[in-house]
Amino acid sequence: MPTHPALPSRPSKIVCVGRNYAEHAKELGNEVPQEPLIFLKPPSALISDGDPIVYPTISQRVDFEGELGVVIGRRARQVEKPAAHDFILGYTIVNDVTARDLQRKDGQWTRGKGFDTFCPVAPWYVPRDEVDFSSLEIRTLLNNELKQHGFAREMIFPLDAIIAFVTQFMTLEPGDLIATGTPPGVGPMQPGDTVRIEIAGLGTLQNPVIQG
Ligand code: MG
Repeated sequence: MPTHPALPSRPSKIVCVGRNYAEHAKELGNEVPQEPLIFLKPPSALISDGDPIVYPTISQRVDFEGELGVVIGRRARQVEKPAAHDFILGYTIVNDVTARDLQRKDGQWTRGKGFDTFCPVAPWYVPRDEVDFSSLEIRTLLNNELKQHGFAREMIFPLDAIIAFVTQFMTLEPGDLIATGTPPGVGPMQPGDTVRIEIAGLGTLQNPVIQG
């Protein structure tokens, strides 16, 4: 769907929310967090629609995580919830690719979430006001088989809460990206697979997986 504007710039950071859907927290045996669980992916992990996800030789378990992406439109610092939506430029599609074994082994998530190619993002966004947020449904298909689906409205911490929380400690810059968490159904990929994330109204993001 390249009829929409291109993403404004390479983000200075990619802010991610972990365990933001109750059913997903449950499927991995985790408690639902009491406040947003925030981590970062490095911009070096970014790839675009169609680019290959490179399966690292040091991992035996690499998962897809289809997510709604939020593109920040202007500098945001210590934003209050009621104003938070003013800082959203638009929405896009993100795959928060995760080496699940390394995430668990390390106890923190930088390596498991941060490999090169572990952040496929659609190279466009849909402006905020053109999106009916309440109907946004995230679907992830592996080799055309439906694996994940959930509605963005089911997030534990909605977008205003995430932006307010993050900007209490971190300034968000125009073009920064927030990956808002994944609905249930995450699972492993193998080299040779193709993963596609569909969000009606935003388009599709599809990437092959290749052996590193
Ligand atoms: Mg995620």
